[in-house]
Amino acid sequence: MVKVAVNGFGTIGKRVAEAVMKQDDMTLVGVTKTRPDYLALLASKLGLLYVPQDRLEKFQKAGIEVQGTLEELLEKVDVVVDATPGGVGKEYKPLYEKHGVKAIFQGGEKHEVAGFSFSTLCNYDEAKDKQFVRVVSCNTTGLLRLICTLRQNFKVKSVRATIVRRGADPHETKKGPIDAIVPNPVTLPSHHGIDVKTVVPDLDIQTTAVVVPTTLAHTHVLNIRFEEPVKREDVLEALRQAPRILVIPTELSGVKDSAKVIELARDVGRKRHDMYELVVYEESVAVEGNEMFLMQVVHQESIVTPENVDAIRAMFGLASKEESIRKTDTSLGIVRTFEELLEAGVKAFGK
Ligand code: NAD
Repeated sequence: MVKVAVNGFGTIGKRVAEAVMKQDDMTLVGVTKTRPDYLALLASKLGLLYVPQDRLEKFQKAGIEVQGTLEELLEKVDVVVDATPGGVGKEYKPLYEKHGVKAIFQGGEKHEVAGFSFSTLCNYDEAKDKQFVRVVSCNTTGLLRLICTLRQNFKVKSVRATIVRRGADPHETKKGPIDAIVPNPVTLPSHHGIDVKTVVPDLDIQTTAVVVPTTLAHTHVLNIRFEEPVKREDVLEALRQAPRILVIPTELSGVKDSAKVIELARDVGRKRHDMYELVVYEESVAVEGNEMFLMQVVHQESIVTPENVDAIRAMFGLASKEESIRKTDTSLGIVRTFEELLEAGVKAFGK
């Protein structure tokens, strides 16, 4: 049993913590919070709450029971999943080193913080015995699931993508934009393609991005060129066979926008409307000779959850890639086909 801590119990941290609790080869020892709030109260009631030494007094004043300090927690675990806000993780690295624990950073940290960027479908085996691993961001995870699946089946020549980014997560009431489409950045390229290359350095990829006033999900508009002509049906089949990619029949389902993707997640009983799968609109897949167009949706809050669980298994050599995917996906109810998702929906209705 690998003993796991989660530092930072926010959007990503709470999902990863819950996912770790569902595995049979790892155990969640504790999570840390820096501010007293309902999540801290919840973690306290679960007997999982630890806080940085300098925050102890704050929690005592608020009357919230804690199990100990972050330093004490680090003494009890083998690995810490750092889910603190972007750029904060690197500040903790010396502490993780001091306690001799492995650490998994998130996409808000630079590649150099861990020195190894991870995506299950692309480089699972390379994480073995690493002390530090960075699970790439939500957008990069979505791009890489698609790209590595395509590269496994076809000769990909180049990828051009426009990332339509959500402005904020649903709870982030102080962020925007409220009424603008903001180039991100206005000078090309966006950082997403550069980030993809931290995992697949030999790929010809360029990306642009805009931020829009929505909180539910990102959308990617892709143009992919292959070395040889490909058939639309072959591409769709490869995507249908791949783990964590869900091809949704747009006409049949009526799921034709990001809001409906999230509504679908709600209706099939997904907690917090989590859609762990990369959602590809079937009817958006268009092929002409060597060239393909495609649109896909990324639920930013949840898509990296399975990759964090896999990263733990990969670093400790607990299971092969295929076995880890099977375990993670079964425990989280991740599906491969629209039919399977509907079956989950039937169960969620109590049948
Ligand atoms: P968040 O703000 O929702 O959660 C961060 C948590 O860390 C909060 O509980 C906060 O209280 C805590 N925290 C703040 N300062 C801290 C400190 N100094 N020490 C310990 N804990 C501290 O952030 P998030 O959205 O979960 O993002 C975490 C990481 O995951 C970032 O690197 C981010 O880029 C990445 N990520 C976020 C998303 C997303 O859509 N939210 C998707 C993929 C990756």
